[in-house]
Amino acid sequence: MRLIIEARLADEDSDSVNDGDGVLAVVERRDRSLAELGLTLVEGRLLLAKVQAELVSKQVEWWLSGQTHCQRCGAAMRHKDSRSTVLRTVYGKVTVKSPRVWSCVCERTVQTPQRVVHPLSKTLTRRVTPELEYLQAKWAAHLPYRQATAMLKEVLPLDKGISLSGLRDTIHTLAKRLDADIERDIAKLPQAVADVQVRTRSWRWARQSTRRRR
Ligand SMILES: [Zn+2]
Repeated sequence: MRLIIEARLADEDSDSVNDGDGVLAVVERRDRSLAELGLTLVEGRLLLAKVQAELVSKQVEWWLSGQTHCQRCGAAMRHKDSRSTVLRTVYGKVTVKSPRVWSCVCERTVQTPQRVVHPLSKTLTRRVTPELEYLQAKWAAHLPYRQATAMLKEVLPLDKGISLSGLRDTIHTLAKRLDADIERDIAKLPQAVADVQVRTRSWRWARQSTRRRR
């Protein structure tokens, strides 16, 4: 027997279904046999990666189709070229085509000449999904970085999506962000509470939590 998994797209405003890029995966098993029951881990990872790549590509493609005209005057934007953008998600790394366009003439002044606009980069300022960062931070808090990376790669299709050095950088970035959040929260407190000791204790806690796992 064969289980054929296909991708089809439907517009949210209509019932029509469009063919996507066809077959995503074919799972083959012996007829009338329970020897290989269900999806294996490898098949599951591959399937999730393919579904994610298909979904992310289509979402980006449809979003870009609404970015072809100037939002101020409605004129068509002139295409310059296309670049590749890599997005890292819990279900793998997805590379999408990201066009660059010339800014509209209505924005041009003596001080601001025509410039190149990269709509996708402007909107997706971070190339990693919050879920992937969350999982990396969560498991790095419980395990050494090397083991946390290996464990995530074993259960999710992250072969090329994460690395030991990448995880270390992610945790350091998150710790810095946490530092900044704590500083901001302390600054909002009444002066009597936000004394130097509180600042120091919070800062040390954030630093130590990352150093312990290096
Ligand atoms: Zn314009």
